[in-house]
Amino acid sequence: MYQGSLQDLIDALGKLPGIGPKSAQRLAFYFLQTDPISVENLARLLVEVKQKVKSCRTCGAVSETEICNLCNDTRRDQTSICVVEEAKDISAIEKTREFKGRYHVLGGVISPIDGIGPDQLRIKDLVKRVDGEKIQEIIIATNPNLEGEATAAYLVKVLEPTQVLVTRLASGLPVGGELEYADEVTLGRALKGRRPI
Ligand SMILES: [Zn+2]
Repeated sequence: MYQGSLQDLIDALGKLPGIGPKSAQRLAFYFLQTDPISVENLARLLVEVKQKVKSCRTCGAVSETEICNLCNDTRRDQTSICVVEEAKDISAIEKTREFKGRYHVLGGVISPIDGIGPDQLRIKDLVKRVDGEKIQEIIIATNPNLEGEATAAYLVKVLEPTQVLVTRLASGLPVGGELEYADEVTLGRALKGRRPI
């Protein structure tokens, strides 16, 4: 529809997750009309984030240093590790302020359809950490879907010889929800995961 660099920009923006052709066009025109300094600043940040941000050598979280702030923080509980699928899941758990231990990022889930097996994930590193550090509890916080459950089951199996306590996040009813609207899987899990109050 357009020509040259404007169309190239619209095409590139359209490849971003969650951005359709209309949003891509709107964003491109926004950049055209914005002052050059703000646009240059954004372009520089895009380049910088790719150069500077890497994975923590211990846990796999995003970090600009070899070992991330969470792993380096001696005030955190050194005996428990919460296992998550992706680095971005850490901020969700951190926001709850309920977990004071450290993390381990798997880098995905076991998914035979996508050709992802245990070796493509940071599972061996996790077992090594349990063996090498004084870990007492592993909390599995993979997503409560088919792949997440399969990955959790695999982790339970490979961690068995280490004799570490392995727990799984409870799934339950959404706060503010009503029983009659809950699907039977969620309600069934909430029943199974019930605890004394
Ligand atoms: Zn780390």
